[in-house]
Amino acid sequence: MSGTEKKSGGFLDKYRIVDHAYDVVVVGAGGSGLRATLGMGAAGLRTACVTKLFPTRSHTVAAQGGIGASLGNMAEDNWRWHMYDTVKGSDWLGDQDAIEFMCREAESAVKELEHFGVPFSRTEDGKIYQRPFGGHMSHYGQEPVPRACAAADRTGHAILHTLYQQCLKHKCEFFVEYYALDLIMDEKGACRGVIAWNLDDGTIHRFAAKMVVLATGGYGRAFQSCTSAHSCTGDGGGLAMRAGIPTQDMEFVQFHPTGIFPAGCLLTEGCRGEGGYLTNSDGERFMERYAPTAKDLASRDVVSRAMTIEIAEGRGCGPNKDHIMLHLEHLGADLLHQRLPGISETAKVFAGVDVTKEPAPVLPTVHYNMGGVPTNIHGEVLRPTEENPDAIVPGLMAVGEAACVSVHGANRLGTNSLLDLIVFGRAAARRAAEIISPAEPLPPLPKEAGEATLANFDRLRHAQGKHSVAGLRERLQRTMQTHAAVFRSESSLKEGCEKVADIWKDVGDIAVADQSLIWNSDLMEALEFENLLANATVTIESAHARHESRGAHAHDDFPERDDVHWMKHSVSYLDGEGGVKLLYRPVRMQTLTDEVEVFPPKKRIY
Ligand SMILES: Cc1cc2nc3c(=O)[nH]c(=O)nc-3n(C[C@H](O)[C@H](O)[C@H](O)COP(=O)(O)OP(=O)(O)OC[C@H]3O[C@@H](n4cnc5c(N)ncnc54)[C@H](O)[C@@H]3O)c2cc1C
Repeated sequence: MSGTEKKSGGFLDKYRIVDHAYDVVVVGAGGSGLRATLGMGAAGLRTACVTKLFPTRSHTVAAQGGIGASLGNMAEDNWRWHMYDTVKGSDWLGDQDAIEFMCREAESAVKELEHFGVPFSRTEDGKIYQRPFGGHMSHYGQEPVPRACAAADRTGHAILHTLYQQCLKHKCEFFVEYYALDLIMDEKGACRGVIAWNLDDGTIHRFAAKMVVLATGGYGRAFQSCTSAHSCTGDGGGLAMRAGIPTQDMEFVQFHPTGIFPAGCLLTEGCRGEGGYLTNSDGERFMERYAPTAKDLASRDVVSRAMTIEIAEGRGCGPNKDHIMLHLEHLGADLLHQRLPGISETAKVFAGVDVTKEPAPVLPTVHYNMGGVPTNIHGEVLRPTEENPDAIVPGLMAVGEAACVSVHGANRLGTNSLLDLIVFGRAAARRAAEIISPAEPLPPLPKEAGEATLANFDRLRHAQGKHSVAGLRERLQRTMQTHAAVFRSESSLKEGCEKVADIWKDVGDIAVADQSLIWNSDLMEALEFENLLANATVTIESAHARHESRGAHAHDDFPERDDVHWMKHSVSYLDGEGGVKLLYRPVRMQTLTDEVEVFPPKKRIY
């Protein structure tokens, strides 16, 4: 084991402590964490990647449909059209300079992946295969354009494995199955490192670093039904909020239209990209009524709302009229086998459906968190104040779904998350290489670094209260599913906030059955639950405060978008007892270059 053993007082004395020093520590080994790790390592920075999962088990592995880039391999395309679609998809809450940056960098980022070895599907003439995806249109919103670069329906799998191999090539060091507990901050509010628990032998590791990068993914598991892995518990948001750093735009939670009913696993939007369509109990292709141009390829919030309305008005399918049908059978077995092999298997296993012969039952399911730790386009974390909305937290970056740059605004377009991971993972590495000098000595960690973290860890480990972790988590998930759903209302959100506040009252009375330090999944789930609760609290509180409908936030009592009062980011600061302080930050209506102009807000019609 690398590092030196050290002890100093209090709870630190009760545990075996190992200290390390690196230029950079990346927390998380999904697509964003690996792209950042690789870039830092390649730039000659001593880089460690700390991850609670084996890297290739990260949720990125489950991404199916594709990564967006206007390569124009199968039809004319232009990064400005991609930028327009992303701004429109975000319902004008995305920062336009960040979106410009992402769409402009997309082509080089995807070609770089190709050169790293990602086995993309191919066109007849050997170019990267691209399929249409929701909300991606040609000529500023005219008609669907194939922009999703795909490796069959296993794009995330292909990317993640390739990036991991590249990290190994660059000799990046991995601390696998280490659970990051907290950031280590100094008295001036700068980040100085991170403290983690080695799940395998129970040791506690303090990593001193010139830069810490949070790449911990989303928090889909705050809801009852989601497409995310069980590991998606928003740990990065939890770590940040405990360190006094806010999260941004947390009320915007994406429901994917086609979670398989009732299990919730995903059937990629690529299904509709390849020509699949939705019907209600009358057999009607109802999307034609809601989105006359894009139809089934309207953006996700639009399709999820249409499906929810169909069901609410009695046109749901099945004996309980509680789902919608997705048709693929007309596409033919050959195409399904070639382009959508993974989802054919998922439909078989989870719904017993042979998609070559019959439609699959689907329902909108929580899929993605637009909100996260606020950053600038270099991945540097922001701690906005009234005076300075762009104030930087020294020593801390965030990338991927854990971050909010914000390129997705109020609603993310499909394929733009994989793109976000790669573009901003790379941008963070470039920035770190600019500002960190490997030769410069690393100042020692604050004296009692980690003491408060271990006090909480020790308390939880020995907690003998009335409430099991599983019981509390289920209460939270049910509350979020009911009160922060596709459609929201003042009364429902208010009740949801009260229920979440009640859960905070019971957290002090939690019970953890296992006291061991080795592979103690009960304790880890308790720690993850603390993070889920933190993320859920700011989600429902900021949703309650936002009196308009925008993107994924559809508010029955305020059905219109209100650009005069609400075209602004919600920034939420959480205190240790579940109290939330909200601050607002202007949307960045500016571009980086004069090669494109700002897209002024207009009504969003597909
Ligand atoms: C089923 C599914 C399909 C999708 N398909 C697409 C698609 O086709 N196109 C697209 O653009 N997007 C897609 N998305 C969205 C996209 O895949 C995710 O947003 C993205 O992969 C998240 O990547 P990430 O790097 O931010 O985090 P993740 O891949 O979730 O990785 C998180 C990492 O953080 C680590 N970690 C977390 N907490 C801790 C902790 N406390 N200590 C140590 N390590 C920690 C984990 O070990 C893991 O390595 C899909 C999502 C799902 C769920």
